[in-house]
Amino acid sequence: MVPDKLDSSNNIFQFASTAPGTYQTMDIGRYVRSFNAFDGDGKELSSGRLSVNQWKIDEPAKTAKIVYTIAETWDNPQKENQVYPMCGTSLENDHAVINGQAVFGYFHGKKNDQIEIRLDYPSNWSVGTALKKESGGYYSASGFDEVVDSPIMLGTLSKTTAAIEETTVDIYTYSKTGKINSDNILLLLEEILNATSQFTEGLPIKNYTFLFHFENFSAGAWEHNYSSFYVFHESDLTDYLITELKSIAAHEFYHIITPLNIHSELVGDFNYEKPTMSQHIWLYEGVTEWASDILQLRDYLIPLNEFLLTMKNKLEANDNFNQTISLTELSLHSTEMQDQYPNIYQKGALVATLLDIRLLELSKGTKGLREVINQLYRDYGANKAFSEKDFFEEFVRRTYPEIADFINRYIKGAEKLPIEEYFSKLGIAYKEFAGIDSSKISLGVAIGVKENRLTIINVENPVPDGLRTGDFISKVNGEEVSLQNAQSKLGFIGKLKVGDSFKLFVERDGSEKEITVTMQPRKIKHQFEISEDAGEESLSLRSAWMKNF
Ligand SMILES: [Zn+2]
Repeated sequence: MVPDKLDSSNNIFQFASTAPGTYQTMDIGRYVRSFNAFDGDGKELSSGRLSVNQWKIDEPAKTAKIVYTIAETWDNPQKENQVYPMCGTSLENDHAVINGQAVFGYFHGKKNDQIEIRLDYPSNWSVGTALKKESGGYYSASGFDEVVDSPIMLGTLSKTTAAIEETTVDIYTYSKTGKINSDNILLLLEEILNATSQFTEGLPIKNYTFLFHFENFSAGAWEHNYSSFYVFHESDLTDYLITELKSIAAHEFYHIITPLNIHSELVGDFNYEKPTMSQHIWLYEGVTEWASDILQLRDYLIPLNEFLLTMKNKLEANDNFNQTISLTELSLHSTEMQDQYPNIYQKGALVATLLDIRLLELSKGTKGLREVINQLYRDYGANKAFSEKDFFEEFVRRTYPEIADFINRYIKGAEKLPIEEYFSKLGIAYKEFAGIDSSKISLGVAIGVKENRLTIINVENPVPDGLRTGDFISKVNGEEVSLQNAQSKLGFIGKLKVGDSFKLFVERDGSEKEITVTMQPRKIKHQFEISEDAGEESLSLRSAWMKNF
């Protein structure tokens, strides 16, 4: 790294402790393996580590060059705060993944200085990034923010470019064995981008780059202003994978609206030194997740019953999380509550769905959440933040006084969501419990992952000798079971019948316990039914809810 002239105020070099939109502690300094400062003659100057993410250079005015090495995140697992793969780095024989905050840093006082990046790589590789390549062969960014905002994937990639409306879309795909290419991806993205355009009243951007990575695991995606990066398991393009890719691409692309263009000052002037959370992740992630589903419904990409199935799936997933945590609490404590935080995508989207219905009801079908958000997008923007503290009041001012009550109950508060009441306004009947289906089996518990181990995350009806929330699963029928072999060791469960049982060993409070698990008939939960003979008022609200107007 060759810095411009430094002075005594630039004597600290900072690696990121977190990055926008990740809501996690990353501590990139943990991956730095060496750090040396040199003068113009190549003589080493003294420098040293100050804290996990900071290095001090003792003679900034003389410093002409810094050389540091940094390890990739994918192949360097950490005990805690593992950097999400879609936010991390990977260096392999046939490709590399660079997320800016996991490779680069900045001198204090120089965060907004221009940065030029040179990449050396094999001649048969290509480079996918939203960064612009300058004539000298350097990729140029206006400052550290833009470096973090512009992931780079390079290697043996397939590339395709298309114009969708006025927007130029570049798609770069790495697929380990070549199963999936960028042309395949374009086919499924076109519909989504057109549907988004209908929803957002025109695509909000001139150029956009999609970076897809298909290898041996799925992790999700990370959004940016001009690009997004996706990590998926490589497989044939099955209907399941296509549906997944579409809905996650719809989610990430919609992030251009929020948080990238509708956000508080905590996002706008981002603090890389210390994670500082906004209480409005209900908006950034919840509203985005809602939009990614409903924009497909409203452009006829999915029928109503399929949309209701996404609601059912979100309600079922929501059941496995702590119901006493409000969305604002989840937002403010996302870094400490990493096991609860994923519920922002379930509960956050459910609350946005209800908020939309309430707004449509109050406006007699003329102004829903889409219209409020589209107006906010026009009034704010990438460089104009709303007030972290006052945004709820502003939202109420822009809508109806009744919305203050909604916010207090379901966003700031953790009241049970009024799914039945709200969907009945649309002539859609909902039952939380709709009976028992004895042809299907249930374990009666939900299994998840905590501390990299298989864990019981929810128990439907706790019994004295049964499984408890927080139990780590160590053995099944006497055989060791881990995250790696879970699929093969637990696969037999799907073939059991009601009344069959098996033995699980779990670790609870440091000691091992043997527990007999008996298969139960499955409860029918979260059932929606579209009623054809709903009243006129419900039908007209439903028709307003189902379209962009
Ligand atoms: Zn998101």
